[in-house]
Amino acid sequence: MIPSLPSPSTAATASAASVSRREVLAAVGGAAGVATVSRARGAERPVGDAALHVRVYPTSIPLRVRLQAGVAGLRGDWTTPHREALDAVDGALEQVLEYARERSRLEDAEVRVERGAPVSLPLSTVQRPSGVVVPSLETVLDGFRERLRERDALTGSTCHLLACWAPLNYRVGYGGTLSPNARVGIDAGGTSGDALTVANLGATELWDSRAVTANMAIHETLHTFVSSDVAQSVVGSGCNHHLGTAVRTDEETLRISPMASAYAGRAEFGAGTRFHGSGCADHDRFARHDGSEGVENWEYTTTLSDATCEAVTRYLERNGLSSDDDGGSTEHDGRSSE
Ligand SMILES: [Zn+2]
Repeated sequence: MIPSLPSPSTAATASAASVSRREVLAAVGGAAGVATVSRARGAERPVGDAALHVRVYPTSIPLRVRLQAGVAGLRGDWTTPHREALDAVDGALEQVLEYARERSRLEDAEVRVERGAPVSLPLSTVQRPSGVVVPSLETVLDGFRERLRERDALTGSTCHLLACWAPLNYRVGYGGTLSPNARVGIDAGGTSGDALTVANLGATELWDSRAVTANMAIHETLHTFVSSDVAQSVVGSGCNHHLGTAVRTDEETLRISPMASAYAGRAEFGAGTRFHGSGCADHDRFARHDGSEGVENWEYTTTLSDATCEAVTRYLERNGLSSDDDGGSTEHDGRSSE
């Protein structure tokens, strides 16, 4: 596959060595100033039975990046990209409910997408005796889960989306989820039933566009509301990405919906998103893919495909918010080969 985010040789301080969870926790705990978390008042109150409940947590953007960007929109924890990502997720879940209600399904469900307090995690580099390394997706998710536990923020039925800023972290890529916390409502393996997912806003903002940021935020959230069984029942493929669509709007333009983002392009540099997810590359298996031959313009729409809406609806109908299944499969987008 095409390499994903910058490889170790291009990310100046990176090394392929892995970072243990303990190291990350030690690094976080050891940096008292960094570890301080300001709670957003009321942001993490207990919730009722809202079927589609998502909390979005920003990570701090380094001062250096803010200064380089010189954009007012990067002030504070809730930058313009973070706010637009949250709005995109909210809009996507509303589309699902609209789709369902038109068919007299999920009539009592509601959407709640809210702000969680910012999370401090080492995302770009972690110091260890052998040098400086880049945390993996697993390490980032472990640290995130630990933060949520400390805050008592796990509800048993919430998707927690870490909207992180790690543009050079090739190991996180665009983001993803890992079993057994990969799907909402699954309490396998002693997990709480909450799902954790990561969207690397720093990567999509630096390498792609705001439209890709919005789409990948939706994409990483919806992974937690779709099982491979359900995807299989909708599109005949267990791959969540095949629920997406790539529709030609003219000879040179392909319009890509959220679940196909990072997967709908040609396997070459710059053909679609800057980096391509691995696997799921068979475009014939997408809910619709009009082919990318001759395409020069790649548009990203936050409008979900009907297949995506159907899959989320079906997932919620089948699983409700409690289930005995296996905690979901790993989904890792824009991943480099390690
Ligand atoms: Zn994905």
